[in-house]
Amino acid sequence: MSRFMGARYSLFDAYTPGEQPQDRQYIKLNTNESPYPPSPKVRQALDAGEIEDQRLYPDPECTALRAKLAQVYDLQPDQLLCGNGSDELLSFAFMAWGSRGAAFADVSYGLYRVLADLHQVKAHIVPLREGFVLDDRDYLGLNRLIVIANPNAPTGLALKPRQLALIAEQNPDGVVLVDEAYVDFGAESCLPLVGRYDNLCVVQTFSKSRSLAGARLGFAAGPAELMRDLKKIKNAINPYNVSRLTQRGGIASLEDADYFLLNTRAIMQTRENTARSLTAMGFEVLPSRTNFLFARHPGIGGAALYMALKKRGVLVRHFGAERTKDYVRITVGSQEQMAALLDGVRAIMGGIRA
Ligand SMILES: *Cc1c(COP(=O)(O)O)cnc(C)c1O
Repeated sequence: MSRFMGARYSLFDAYTPGEQPQDRQYIKLNTNESPYPPSPKVRQALDAGEIEDQRLYPDPECTALRAKLAQVYDLQPDQLLCGNGSDELLSFAFMAWGSRGAAFADVSYGLYRVLADLHQVKAHIVPLREGFVLDDRDYLGLNRLIVIANPNAPTGLALKPRQLALIAEQNPDGVVLVDEAYVDFGAESCLPLVGRYDNLCVVQTFSKSRSLAGARLGFAAGPAELMRDLKKIKNAINPYNVSRLTQRGGIASLEDADYFLLNTRAIMQTRENTARSLTAMGFEVLPSRTNFLFARHPGIGGAALYMALKKRGVLVRHFGAERTKDYVRITVGSQEQMAALLDGVRAIMGGIRA
Protein backbone atom coordinates (compact mmCIF):
# COMPACT_ATOMS: atom_id res chain seq x y z
CA MET A 1 0.00 0.00 0.00
CA SER A 2 1.26 3.52 -0.68
CA ARG A 3 1.90 6.07 2.04
CA PHE A 4 -0.99 8.09 0.56
CA MET A 5 -3.67 5.55 1.48
CA GLY A 6 -5.87 6.77 4.33
CA ALA A 7 -5.38 4.88 7.59
CA ARG A 8 -9.07 4.05 7.71
CA TYR A 9 -8.78 2.04 4.49
CA SER A 10 -5.30 0.61 4.93
CA LEU A 11 -6.34 -1.21 8.09
CA PHE A 12 -9.31 -3.26 6.99
CA ASP A 13 -9.51 -6.54 5.07
CA ALA A 14 -11.38 -6.30 1.79
CA TYR A 15 -13.61 -9.05 0.42
CA THR A 16 -11.79 -11.94 -1.25
CA PRO A 17 -13.63 -12.81 -4.46
CA GLY A 18 -13.66 -16.43 -5.58
CA GLU A 19 -10.49 -17.08 -7.57
CA GLN A 20 -10.61 -16.66 -11.35
CA PRO A 21 -7.32 -18.40 -12.23
CA GLN A 22 -5.94 -18.09 -15.76
CA ASP A 23 -3.21 -20.78 -15.52
CA ARG A 24 -5.35 -23.54 -17.02
CA GLN A 25 -8.93 -24.43 -17.94
CA TYR A 26 -10.86 -25.27 -14.80
CA ILE A 27 -14.32 -26.63 -14.27
CA LYS A 28 -15.43 -23.58 -12.32
CA LEU A 29 -17.68 -24.52 -9.44
CA ASN A 30 -16.46 -21.83 -7.06
CA THR A 31 -18.43 -18.61 -7.62
CA ASN A 32 -22.01 -19.80 -8.11
CA GLU A 33 -22.22 -18.66 -11.72
CA SER A 34 -24.74 -20.35 -14.00
CA PRO A 35 -23.48 -23.04 -16.37
CA TYR A 36 -26.07 -21.87 -18.91
CA PRO A 37 -25.94 -18.77 -21.13
CA PRO A 38 -28.43 -15.93 -20.65
CA SER A 39 -31.73 -16.09 -22.52
CA PRO A 40 -31.41 -15.86 -26.32
CA LYS A 41 -33.67 -12.79 -25.98
CA VAL A 42 -30.76 -11.02 -24.26
CA ARG A 43 -28.58 -11.52 -27.34
CA GLN A 44 -31.33 -10.22 -29.62
CA ALA A 45 -31.81 -7.14 -27.44
CA LEU A 46 -28.13 -6.18 -27.58
CA ASP A 47 -28.30 -5.43 -31.29
CA ALA A 48 -26.39 -3.04 -33.52
CA GLY A 49 -28.66 -0.12 -32.64
CA GLU A 50 -27.90 -0.63 -28.98
CA ILE A 51 -24.17 -0.59 -29.78
CA GLU A 52 -24.57 2.76 -31.60
CA ASP A 53 -26.45 4.14 -28.60
CA GLN A 54 -23.45 3.47 -26.38
CA ARG A 55 -22.42 7.10 -26.97
CA LEU A 56 -25.36 8.11 -24.76
CA TYR A 57 -25.54 7.88 -20.98
CA PRO A 58 -27.94 5.30 -19.61
CA ASP A 59 -31.25 6.26 -17.97
CA PRO A 60 -30.19 6.99 -14.36
CA GLU A 61 -33.67 5.96 -13.17
CA CYS A 62 -33.74 2.64 -15.05
CA THR A 63 -37.35 3.54 -15.86
CA ALA A 64 -38.12 0.79 -18.37
CA LEU A 65 -36.32 -1.86 -16.37
CA ARG A 66 -38.14 -0.93 -13.17
CA ALA A 67 -41.47 -0.95 -15.01
CA LYS A 68 -40.73 -4.48 -16.19
CA LEU A 69 -39.64 -5.61 -12.72
CA ALA A 70 -42.78 -4.06 -11.24
CA GLN A 71 -44.90 -6.02 -13.71
CA VAL A 72 -43.10 -9.33 -13.13
CA TYR A 73 -43.04 -9.08 -9.31
CA ASP A 74 -46.34 -7.26 -8.80
CA LEU A 75 -44.80 -4.14 -7.27
CA GLN A 76 -44.93 -0.40 -7.94
CA PRO A 77 -41.97 1.14 -9.83
CA ASP A 78 -41.28 3.48 -6.91
CA GLN A 79 -40.79 0.40 -4.71
CA LEU A 80 -37.75 -0.57 -6.81
CA LEU A 81 -34.19 0.61 -7.28
CA CYS A 82 -31.61 -0.97 -9.61
CA GLY A 83 -27.96 -1.43 -8.82
CA ASN A 84 -24.65 -2.38 -10.41
CA GLY A 85 -24.98 -5.88 -9.03
CA SER A 86 -26.70 -6.41 -5.71
CA ASP A 87 -23.34 -5.89 -3.97
CA GLU A 88 -23.64 -2.20 -4.79
CA LEU A 89 -27.11 -2.05 -3.25
CA LEU A 90 -25.87 -3.81 -0.11
CA SER A 91 -23.18 -1.17 0.16
CA PHE A 92 -25.76 1.64 -0.19
CA ALA A 93 -27.92 -0.06 2.46
CA PHE A 94 -25.10 -0.19 5.00
CA MET A 95 -24.45 3.51 4.37
CA ALA A 96 -28.10 4.51 4.52
CA TRP A 97 -29.32 2.44 7.44
CA GLY A 98 -26.25 1.38 9.44
CA SER A 99 -25.96 4.27 11.89
CA ARG A 100 -27.19 2.13 14.81
CA GLY A 101 -24.99 -0.78 13.77
CA ALA A 102 -25.75 -3.88 11.73
CA ALA A 103 -26.53 -7.43 12.82
CA PHE A 104 -25.75 -10.47 10.71
CA ALA A 105 -24.84 -14.13 11.13
CA ASP A 106 -21.33 -15.40 11.85
CA VAL A 107 -21.58 -17.75 8.88
CA SER A 108 -23.00 -15.79 5.95
CA TYR A 109 -21.97 -13.76 2.92
CA GLY A 110 -18.47 -12.43 3.67
CA LEU A 111 -19.17 -9.06 2.12
CA TYR A 112 -21.40 -7.97 5.05
CA ARG A 113 -18.44 -7.83 7.41
CA VAL A 114 -16.39 -5.89 4.85
CA LEU A 115 -19.17 -3.36 4.23
CA ALA A 116 -19.62 -2.81 7.96
CA ASP A 117 -15.88 -2.06 8.28
CA LEU A 118 -15.80 0.09 5.16
CA HIS A 119 -18.74 2.23 6.21
CA GLN A 120 -17.79 2.28 9.92
CA VAL A 121 -20.94 0.46 10.90
CA LYS A 122 -20.67 -1.45 14.18
CA ALA A 123 -21.04 -5.15 13.44
CA HIS A 124 -23.19 -7.24 15.77
CA ILE A 125 -22.36 -10.85 14.88
CA VAL A 126 -25.11 -13.34 15.70
CA PRO A 127 -23.84 -16.95 15.75
CA LEU A 128 -25.99 -19.43 13.88
CA ARG A 129 -27.29 -22.26 16.04
CA GLU A 130 -26.23 -25.90 15.80
CA GLY A 131 -26.39 -27.18 12.23
CA PHE A 132 -26.05 -23.60 10.88
CA VAL A 133 -29.68 -22.90 11.73
CA LEU A 134 -30.67 -19.23 11.84
CA ASP A 135 -33.09 -18.89 14.75
CA ASP A 136 -35.43 -15.92 14.34
CA ARG A 137 -35.52 -15.50 18.13
CA ASP A 138 -31.88 -14.34 18.00
CA TYR A 139 -32.93 -11.32 15.92
CA LEU A 140 -35.83 -9.88 17.89
CA GLY A 141 -35.56 -6.43 19.46
CA LEU A 142 -32.14 -5.64 18.01
CA ASN A 143 -33.45 -2.40 16.48
CA ARG A 144 -30.60 -1.82 14.08
CA LEU A 145 -29.93 -2.81 10.49
CA ILE A 146 -30.38 -6.58 10.19
CA VAL A 147 -28.94 -8.31 7.14
CA ILE A 148 -30.03 -11.85 6.37
CA ALA A 149 -29.11 -13.83 3.27
CA ASN A 150 -32.12 -16.02 2.52
CA PRO A 151 -31.28 -18.68 1.50
CA ASN A 152 -28.05 -18.27 3.42
CA ALA A 153 -24.62 -18.61 1.85
CA PRO A 154 -22.56 -20.73 2.07
CA THR A 155 -24.94 -23.06 3.92
CA GLY A 156 -27.82 -23.06 1.41
CA LEU A 157 -30.43 -23.19 4.20
CA ALA A 158 -33.60 -21.09 3.87
CA LEU A 159 -36.04 -19.41 6.24
CA LYS A 160 -39.76 -18.96 5.64
CA PRO A 161 -41.01 -15.45 4.79
CA ARG A 162 -43.12 -15.44 7.95
CA GLN A 163 -39.90 -15.71 10.00
CA LEU A 164 -38.51 -12.64 8.28
CA ALA A 165 -41.84 -10.88 8.74
CA LEU A 166 -41.61 -11.60 12.47
CA ILE A 167 -38.09 -10.17 12.59
CA ALA A 168 -39.30 -7.03 10.77
CA GLU A 169 -42.23 -6.67 13.20
CA GLN A 170 -39.99 -7.07 16.22
CA ASN A 171 -37.38 -4.52 15.04
CA PRO A 172 -39.46 -1.41 14.42
CA ASP A 173 -36.40 0.83 14.70
CA GLY A 174 -34.15 -0.99 12.26
CA VAL A 175 -34.33 -1.96 8.60
CA VAL A 176 -34.44 -5.68 7.85
CA LEU A 177 -32.52 -6.34 4.64
CA VAL A 178 -33.18 -9.73 3.04
CA ASP A 179 -30.56 -10.72 0.49
CA GLU A 180 -32.30 -13.12 -1.89
CA ALA A 181 -29.38 -13.81 -4.25
CA TYR A 182 -30.35 -17.52 -4.41
CA VAL A 183 -34.09 -17.43 -3.82
CA ASP A 184 -35.00 -18.57 -7.36
CA PHE A 185 -33.59 -22.05 -6.71
CA GLY A 186 -36.47 -23.26 -4.59
CA ALA A 187 -36.88 -20.92 -1.62
CA GLU A 188 -39.80 -18.59 -0.87
CA SER A 189 -39.29 -14.91 -1.64
CA CYS A 190 -40.20 -12.03 0.67
CA LEU A 191 -41.13 -9.83 -2.31
CA PRO A 192 -44.86 -10.39 -1.61
CA LEU A 193 -44.29 -8.80 1.82
CA VAL A 194 -42.87 -5.61 0.33
CA GLY A 195 -45.02 -2.64 1.30
CA ARG A 196 -46.55 -4.41 4.31
CA TYR A 197 -43.68 -3.27 6.58
CA ASP A 198 -42.06 0.15 6.55
CA ASN A 199 -38.71 -1.44 7.45
CA LEU A 200 -38.42 -4.44 5.11
CA CYS A 201 -36.13 -4.31 2.08
CA VAL A 202 -35.45 -7.22 -0.28
CA VAL A 203 -32.44 -7.40 -2.59
CA GLN A 204 -32.13 -9.73 -5.59
CA THR A 205 -29.54 -10.23 -8.31
CA PHE A 206 -29.48 -11.24 -11.98
CA SER A 207 -26.05 -12.86 -11.43
CA LYS A 208 -27.11 -16.36 -10.48
CA SER A 209 -30.52 -17.50 -11.67
CA ARG A 210 -30.51 -15.23 -14.75
CA SER A 211 -26.95 -16.03 -15.92
CA LEU A 212 -25.97 -12.35 -16.00
CA ALA A 213 -23.12 -12.14 -13.46
CA GLY A 214 -20.99 -10.34 -16.04
CA ALA A 215 -23.61 -7.67 -16.73
CA ARG A 216 -23.74 -6.57 -13.06
CA LEU A 217 -27.41 -6.09 -12.25
CA GLY A 218 -29.34 -6.26 -9.01
CA PHE A 219 -32.42 -4.63 -7.58
CA ALA A 220 -33.76 -3.56 -4.21
CA ALA A 221 -37.47 -3.69 -3.40
CA GLY A 222 -39.09 -1.97 -0.45
CA PRO A 223 -41.37 0.87 0.53
CA ALA A 224 -40.87 3.98 -1.63
CA GLU A 225 -39.44 5.87 1.32
CA LEU A 226 -36.64 3.33 1.77
CA MET A 227 -35.96 3.38 -1.97
CA ARG A 228 -35.56 7.16 -1.81
CA ASP A 229 -32.87 6.68 0.87
CA LEU A 230 -30.92 4.33 -1.37
CA LYS A 231 -31.43 6.56 -4.39
CA LYS A 232 -29.97 9.52 -2.56
CA ILE A 233 -26.78 7.56 -1.93
CA LYS A 234 -26.72 6.17 -5.46
CA ASN A 235 -27.00 9.68 -6.89
CA ALA A 236 -24.07 10.78 -4.71
CA ILE A 237 -21.80 7.89 -5.67
CA ASN A 238 -22.70 6.82 -9.19
CA PRO A 239 -25.88 8.24 -10.74
CA TYR A 240 -25.46 6.21 -13.95
CA ASN A 241 -24.80 3.00 -12.06
CA VAL A 242 -26.47 0.58 -14.49
CA SER A 243 -25.14 0.59 -18.06
CA ARG A 244 -27.33 0.81 -21.15
CA LEU A 245 -26.40 -2.72 -22.23
CA THR A 246 -27.27 -4.07 -18.82
CA GLN A 247 -30.64 -2.29 -18.66
CA ARG A 248 -31.56 -3.68 -22.08
CA GLY A 249 -30.30 -7.16 -21.27
CA GLY A 250 -32.08 -7.17 -17.93
CA ILE A 251 -35.44 -6.32 -19.51
CA ALA A 252 -34.97 -9.03 -22.17
CA SER A 253 -34.13 -11.56 -19.48
CA LEU A 254 -37.32 -10.70 -17.57
CA GLU A 255 -39.31 -11.14 -20.78
CA ASP A 256 -38.25 -14.77 -21.08
CA ALA A 257 -39.97 -16.39 -18.12
CA ASP A 258 -39.98 -19.84 -19.80
CA TYR A 259 -36.21 -19.90 -20.22
CA PHE A 260 -35.72 -18.73 -16.64
CA LEU A 261 -37.94 -21.51 -15.28
CA LEU A 262 -36.29 -24.14 -17.47
CA ASN A 263 -32.80 -23.20 -16.30
CA THR A 264 -33.56 -22.86 -12.61
CA ARG A 265 -35.42 -26.19 -12.66
CA ALA A 266 -32.53 -27.91 -14.45
CA ILE A 267 -30.12 -26.63 -11.81
CA MET A 268 -32.38 -27.75 -8.97
CA GLN A 269 -32.67 -31.21 -10.55
CA THR A 270 -28.88 -31.48 -11.00
CA ARG A 271 -28.44 -30.27 -7.43
CA GLU A 272 -30.63 -33.05 -6.03
CA ASN A 273 -28.89 -35.72 -8.15
CA THR A 274 -25.45 -34.49 -7.09
CA ALA A 275 -26.45 -34.31 -3.43
CA ARG A 276 -27.66 -37.91 -3.62
CA SER A 277 -24.38 -39.09 -5.19
CA LEU A 278 -22.29 -37.24 -2.61
CA THR A 279 -24.38 -38.64 0.24
CA ALA A 280 -23.89 -42.14 -1.17
CA MET A 281 -20.13 -41.52 -0.99
CA GLY A 282 -20.34 -40.73 2.69
CA PHE A 283 -20.67 -36.93 2.53
CA GLU A 284 -22.89 -34.97 4.82
CA VAL A 285 -24.72 -32.55 2.51
CA LEU A 286 -26.82 -29.70 3.87
CA PRO A 287 -30.29 -29.45 2.29
CA SER A 288 -29.80 -26.67 -0.27
CA ARG A 289 -32.31 -24.20 -1.69
CA THR A 290 -29.61 -22.61 -3.83
CA ASN A 291 -27.36 -23.35 -6.82
CA PHE A 292 -24.62 -24.72 -4.57
CA LEU A 293 -24.05 -27.56 -2.13
CA PHE A 294 -22.27 -27.26 1.20
CA ALA A 295 -20.81 -30.62 2.12
CA ARG A 296 -18.22 -32.35 4.27
CA HIS A 297 -16.78 -35.84 4.51
CA PRO A 298 -15.48 -37.42 7.73
CA GLY A 299 -12.48 -38.80 5.81
CA ILE A 300 -11.02 -35.54 4.45
CA GLY A 301 -10.82 -31.89 5.53
CA GLY A 302 -12.30 -29.11 3.43
CA ALA A 303 -8.93 -27.58 2.54
CA ALA A 304 -7.47 -30.93 1.47
CA LEU A 305 -10.48 -31.75 -0.69
CA TYR A 306 -10.40 -28.29 -2.27
CA MET A 307 -6.67 -28.69 -3.09
CA ALA A 308 -7.04 -32.22 -4.45
CA LEU A 309 -9.94 -31.16 -6.68
CA LYS A 310 -8.01 -28.14 -7.92
CA LYS A 311 -5.13 -30.41 -8.98
CA ARG A 312 -7.68 -32.32 -11.03
CA GLY A 313 -8.94 -29.14 -12.68
CA VAL A 314 -12.11 -28.71 -10.61
CA LEU A 315 -12.45 -25.49 -8.62
CA VAL A 316 -14.71 -25.39 -5.57
CA ARG A 317 -14.73 -22.91 -2.69
CA HIS A 318 -13.30 -23.47 0.77
CA PHE A 319 -13.86 -21.12 3.70
CA GLY A 320 -11.16 -21.50 6.31
CA ALA A 321 -13.09 -20.16 9.33
CA GLU A 322 -13.49 -22.48 12.31
CA ARG A 323 -17.11 -23.43 11.70
CA THR A 324 -16.75 -23.92 7.94
CA LYS A 325 -13.26 -25.36 7.52
CA ASP A 326 -14.43 -28.99 7.20
CA TYR A 327 -16.74 -28.12 4.31
CA VAL A 328 -16.48 -27.23 0.65
CA ARG A 329 -19.03 -25.20 -1.25
CA ILE A 330 -19.72 -26.64 -4.68
CA THR A 331 -21.59 -24.64 -7.31
CA VAL A 332 -24.17 -26.70 -9.17
CA GLY A 333 -23.06 -26.64 -12.80
CA SER A 334 -24.20 -28.62 -15.82
CA GLN A 335 -24.74 -32.38 -15.58
CA GLU A 336 -21.40 -32.92 -17.36
CA GLN A 337 -19.58 -30.65 -14.92
CA MET A 338 -21.09 -32.47 -11.96
CA ALA A 339 -20.14 -35.83 -13.45
CA ALA A 340 -16.54 -34.57 -13.64
CA LEU A 341 -16.74 -33.34 -10.05
CA LEU A 342 -18.05 -36.70 -8.84
CA ASP A 343 -15.34 -38.55 -10.79
CA GLY A 344 -12.74 -36.36 -9.13
CA VAL A 345 -14.18 -36.87 -5.66
CA ARG A 346 -14.40 -40.63 -6.21
CA ALA A 347 -10.75 -40.81 -7.26
CA ILE A 348 -9.61 -38.67 -4.33
CA MET A 349 -11.60 -40.64 -1.76
CA GLY A 350 -10.44 -43.94 -3.31
CA GLY A 351 -6.82 -42.78 -3.04
CA ILE A 352 -7.30 -41.97 0.64
CA ARG A 353 -8.81 -45.34 1.46
CA ALA A 354 -6.13 -47.26 -0.47
C1 LIG B 1 -23.58 -13.52 -5.37
C2 LIG B 1 -24.16 -12.85 -4.16
C3 LIG B 1 -24.45 -11.50 -4.15
C4 LIG B 1 -23.94 -10.54 -5.17
O1 LIG B 1 -24.41 -10.58 -6.36
P1 LIG B 1 -24.08 -9.47 -7.45
O2 LIG B 1 -25.42 -9.05 -7.88
O3 LIG B 1 -23.31 -10.22 -8.48
O4 LIG B 1 -23.31 -8.35 -6.84
C5 LIG B 1 -25.10 -10.97 -3.04
N1 LIG B 1 -25.39 -11.71 -1.98
C6 LIG B 1 -25.08 -13.02 -1.94
C7 LIG B 1 -25.42 -13.79 -0.72
C8 LIG B 1 -24.45 -13.61 -3.02
O5 LIG B 1 -24.09 -14.89 -2.95
